[in-house]
Amino acid sequence: MADCNLCGVSRPTLCPVKVNDPSVSSAYPTGTWRGINEECLHSCHEANLNRVPIRAKKCDLCGIKNAPLFQVKVSVPIFQEPYHRAISKAICESCLGACEESIQRREAEKKEAHH
Ligand SMILES: [Zn+2]
Ligand SMILES: [Zn+2]
Repeated sequence: MADCNLCGVSRPTLCPVKVNDPSVSSAYPTGTWRGINEECLHSCHEANLNRVPIRAKKCDLCGIKNAPLFQVKVSVPIFQEPYHRAISKAICESCLGACEESIQRREAEKKEAHH
């Protein structure tokens, strides 16, 4: 099991998203991998279409500061009714693009699996 980097929910498999984390860019100049679950990947896709700006200190995925950020709505589990809560995350443009790539990779894999 692994925890989603956005909502923190544990899943057997996560969708890999390649981001440019500025704090480790000297060690990983080509980017590092984050894992997010399918629900959050879908939320990122919607955020990419809607592009709602959000005020936040840094990107919740790669940690970049002083970049334009966009709102991503994810639901996190809680221990009371209704057992989940909608929260807003802030994602930078480059991470939104990385999510789109991850979605496209998944779709390609699904097509492959059909043959
Ligand atoms: Zn998630
Ligand atoms: Zn980012």
